Amino acid sequence: MQPCHSCQTVIDEYLLNKRLEPLRELTADDFNVCADCATIVADACVKCGGAVYVPRSGSVTPDYCPACRSDVIDRTGHDPGWTRGHESA
Ligand SMILES: [Zn+2]
Ligand SMILES: [Zn+2]
Repeated sequence: MQPCHSCQTVIDEYLLNKRLEPLRELTADDFNVCADCATIVADACVKCGGAVYVPRSGSVTPDYCPACRSDVIDRTGHDPGWTRGHESA
């Protein structure tokens, strides 16, 4: 068991996996935060229409789910970031 990086609570992987269920390919092992600190927004991915994961520190809802983001990286070798429509600053 490891503590949540955000609130230091010990992570309950069962609860976290339940919360992560709408996400493709991700499990509690991929996260260092507890279920309370993981925000999932359903139907928000612009590519697959699936759920996205919102980092606690972030105030924006990502346009890509983690699976689609890694798809883009695999295909193009370029990381699009979490949101579309932003030219590189
Ligand atoms: Zn937490
Ligand atoms: Zn997606």
